[in-house]
Amino acid sequence: MSEFTKTLCPYCGVGCGLEVSPPAELGKATNRDNQGNPIWRVRGDKAHPSSQGMVCVKGATIAESLDKNRLHYPMVRESLDQEFRRVSWDEAFDLITKRIQTVRFTQGPEAICMYGSGQFQTEDYYIAQKFMKGCLGTNNFDANSRLCMSSAVAGYIQSFGSDGPPCCYEDLELTDCAFLIGTNAAECHPIAFNRLAKYHKKNRKVKMIVVDPRRTPTAEVADLHLAIRPGTDIDLLNGIAHLLMRWNHVDTMFIEDCTSNFPAYAEVIRHYPPEVVARECGITIEDLETAARYWSQSKRVLSLWSMGVNQSSEGTAKVRTIINLHLMTGQIGKPGAGPFSLTGQPNAMGGREAGGLAHLLPGYRLVKNPEHRAEIEEFWGLNPGQISPHPGLTAWDMITGLENNAVGLLWIAATNPAVSMPDLERTKKALLRSPFTIYQDAYYPTETSAYAHVLLPAAQWGEKTGVMTNSERTVTLCQAFRQPPREAKPDWEIFAEVGRRLGFTKEFAFANSAEVYAEFAKLTKNRLCEMTGISHAQLKAQGPTQWPHPEKSYELRVKSDELESSTPNSSLLTPNSSLLTPNSSLLTPNSSLLTPNSKRLYTNLRFHTPDGRARFGAYYSKGLAEPPNPDYPFVLTTGRLYGHWHTQTRTGRIEKICKMHPEPFIEIHPRDAARLGIVDNQYVEVRSRRGEAKFPAKVTKAIAPGTVFVPMHWGYLWADNAEANALTHPESCPDSLQPELKACAVQLTPI
Ligand code: SF4
Repeated sequence: MSEFTKTLCPYCGVGCGLEVSPPAELGKATNRDNQGNPIWRVRGDKAHPSSQGMVCVKGATIAESLDKNRLHYPMVRESLDQEFRRVSWDEAFDLITKRIQTVRFTQGPEAICMYGSGQFQTEDYYIAQKFMKGCLGTNNFDANSRLCMSSAVAGYIQSFGSDGPPCCYEDLELTDCAFLIGTNAAECHPIAFNRLAKYHKKNRKVKMIVVDPRRTPTAEVADLHLAIRPGTDIDLLNGIAHLLMRWNHVDTMFIEDCTSNFPAYAEVIRHYPPEVVARECGITIEDLETAARYWSQSKRVLSLWSMGVNQSSEGTAKVRTIINLHLMTGQIGKPGAGPFSLTGQPNAMGGREAGGLAHLLPGYRLVKNPEHRAEIEEFWGLNPGQISPHPGLTAWDMITGLENNAVGLLWIAATNPAVSMPDLERTKKALLRSPFTIYQDAYYPTETSAYAHVLLPAAQWGEKTGVMTNSERTVTLCQAFRQPPREAKPDWEIFAEVGRRLGFTKEFAFANSAEVYAEFAKLTKNRLCEMTGISHAQLKAQGPTQWPHPEKSYELRVKSDELESSTPNSSLLTPNSSLLTPNSSLLTPNSSLLTPNSKRLYTNLRFHTPDGRARFGAYYSKGLAEPPNPDYPFVLTTGRLYGHWHTQTRTGRIEKICKMHPEPFIEIHPRDAARLGIVDNQYVEVRSRRGEAKFPAKVTKAIAPGTVFVPMHWGYLWADNAEANALTHPESCPDSLQPELKACAVQLTPI
């Protein structure tokens, strides 16, 4: 009999459900990878509400990466020019605890940094927060989500008073107009995009607008592709708002009842007439008007975005400017409408819930908020004032901290900054200066392992049980189906053991990850992301569950679903609607379940700001941090390909994917190629102010003139001199501190 274990795909934030069965079943041949290891069988989980059995090539081939190039034992070396030598866990833990104590007492806790990952399960994230922010007393925990989603986090918090994507995947099949900006969802979030594309194809009245300087596979199926100049997103968004205002397509009642700061916004958009916007964006006035007309004619507009918006020196402003359009048209809190960020990493959402960024605390709390710190201190049994009131070092701050000798110990886990950080030469030089780097990962070697003094083998997907939350707030139990290889351990167990050896035995007395999750879930009580009704046992019994999900929320959900079916247009509900269920008094005052439909946030049109109103953000466009000039005349934009995942630690070892994407390349428009004398496949040297790389040319009209595109997946282990981030710069959004990985100025020379 087949025995399938239910889990989640550990790649992108779509969060597709998977079922996994052992490599060989009775009477069947065993598939093996090219190193002879038996391959576990993977299929889509039809019962998973987010993916309904669908998987893309990454999810389908994930099991092939399980046994290749694994790190099996702890290893140490005194300096980076030495070979690693194998040690026992006991020796490794001793070395790490001694080093932490030395740094704490000589430089202070602020000299200790941890850089984690959206690949962590929520339990890993939570224990890392308790260890760093609670026990060590430093907020220097940041994750690769800083490079991925932090602008969305900042935008939601500033506009709505809390983080949390308001929409759900069902909205993909309920919208009248999908507005995709800065997202190549067809390649980067393929299963979510498939749902949208199928629905769009079947319903010809439904419009799809794609805003992207590249004609991506996403843009190919759009009704309108706006190939704007990089850095003109805010011009475009304000230009659409200008036309909506001019045409009187504004929901004045919603603006009056549910928002604040509209006059400041109205003043800004006055300066974005179509002639100016079309010129700035490099599009026609007709196309701009068509986009505004699609917005104005649609009862339900759904905006989707990812890195093209977030990875920007004005990322938070872009996110808020998208949200503004929804607020001025009342397009939020109802089926098929709202602003919806597509998360990059599989558990960046869970990380945000657990407080896994340098300015956050568990349960969507903020380091800077004294009440939030006090709540966590009390819960963790700390003395008042023990949690630092200062946000910790972000990902890039850790690099500059190494440059300034302010970092005495750097602990990197489940991520590969020697490929993914901006300005790679500078990043690598900084990593070389680190007095002591612990690198905890499932794989060896990686580009980052070259900078480590200690290597700790981590258990990965399928080898530990924990939960992950996807882009639509659905929490899935990712169950272990095999033992970790040799001496590898789950990340949370490693952090907890170091905590215990530092004397925090009571704080880390967890028998298993279910207990860790149970403790974390208690901290979400009365928060927007409440999960007190979620546990490992509940997820196993009832399947993936969307938050908010307080205890007893099942009955409430049934009532709210009944109510939704009787109120087809929930946007008509006023903030004080008498349609709230009779049992709503059971809910906490801030609970988002004070709404008639718990699949979406803010359906009662009350937001998490102190006055309950969503705030308009008024932003003029600032453009790129590094615009092109005569010396560096092209804008380089970077991105992902359908098959590969980030720095290829897994996908670079999967034959099918490597055949699909055999080498890096640079896309260049035929007009630019002709002017520079570049032909297809000819190598091009690409130089920015920080570094250089070489790529074979792909001459294509898919990229706009003046812009070039390079995929970001290739580190030095996979190709010579083809690192996209050798070229990028670290200038960041002042609010989210997310670097502008999406655009820098370059010059091109044919070789
Ligand atoms: Fe995995 Fe994302 Fe593909 Fe789904 S869409 S199978 S989550 S990579």
